[in-house]
Amino acid sequence: MATPAANPTSSDPPLDGLGRPLGVLRLSLTARCNLACPYCLPDEQEPPGLLSLEQRHAVVQAAVALGAHSLRLTGGEPLLHSQLERLIEAVQPLRTRGLRDIALTSNGTLLSAKRARALRAAGLDRITLSLDGADGTSVARMAGLSDATAGERTLAAVQAAIGHARDAGFDPAAGALKLNAVIQRGRNDDQLLPLAELCRGQGLELRLIEYMDVGSRNGWSPADVVSASEMTERIGSRWPLEAFERDLHSTSRRWRYRDGTGGIAVVASVSEPFCGDCNRLRVTADGVAYTCLFAAPSSGLDLQPWLQPSADPTGLEQALTQLWHSRRDRYSEERQASPGGHHHAEMAYLGG
Ligand code: SF4
Repeated sequence: MATPAANPTSSDPPLDGLGRPLGVLRLSLTARCNLACPYCLPDEQEPPGLLSLEQRHAVVQAAVALGAHSLRLTGGEPLLHSQLERLIEAVQPLRTRGLRDIALTSNGTLLSAKRARALRAAGLDRITLSLDGADGTSVARMAGLSDATAGERTLAAVQAAIGHARDAGFDPAAGALKLNAVIQRGRNDDQLLPLAELCRGQGLELRLIEYMDVGSRNGWSPADVVSASEMTERIGSRWPLEAFERDLHSTSRRWRYRDGTGGIAVVASVSEPFCGDCNRLRVTADGVAYTCLFAAPSSGLDLQPWLQPSADPTGLEQALTQLWHSRRDRYSEERQASPGGHHHAEMAYLGG
């Protein structure tokens, strides 16, 4: 494990307490969502004191100044946010200061053809949509919907969203369009092959996510986790796979289909933790910075004092630098020693 630079100069991007750089800012635009997935269970209300467009721009600018090269816009459901396109436009000039990639994570149900084009025109590079089943019953179960009919409607909306995003220029073959699926044993692990088939048919990378103890409401148990090795075994027995090493700082490991029809990725936070090179900072819709997906609610740093018009313009960078320097999070590695019983901030509030 790398150690922090001995005499960091003020121009060196800050390293955290375990020698990890800041690379990705996950910025949540809302804690609300139009779905209620049982592994997430978002709040129905927004937190008070939501950031303004200008304040969000200041947060992105400060993070880029500290080395962040990737911005992921999240929620809750970020398409519920009316200023999404304006924010993406506003941060474009930061591409001359090190921002290289702007991505969006959305459940896709609100992504119309017009919105997909507007996001592309605003300067969005990549979209990751979500679908946890390939039939109405499974989608309803995994999205907290009333019945299979509602599930069918949601499935159709996400499939339409895939088409809209592709038509707007988010090319799956270039990795600009992917599909996330959380897999939970006994709830939707029977959807592994149907989801793989759905994505193979569309040339989409299926990003499978091990069910995690995010937040404090989903009743997580290790017994409900389908590990990456089991998921790839089950899919590989149908369509042979070739594995790749996990890229540095990546949350997922990738496999390609030996028949050349694209590939899959697995986010294995439980069975193969990747905290060693985690470079992600999260900022909530109301401006609280967290250094880990499994952070305790009280561990966040409220950035509002540095986001006021009267605040010292360099104060935010200094505050984030200190926060990052003091960061020693490696929860997923520690989880194995003491699973369960931790009080985590809610995932929809943190921005996933
Ligand atoms: S558990 Fe925390 S430190 Fe580990 S990879 Fe996830 S966000 Fe990073």
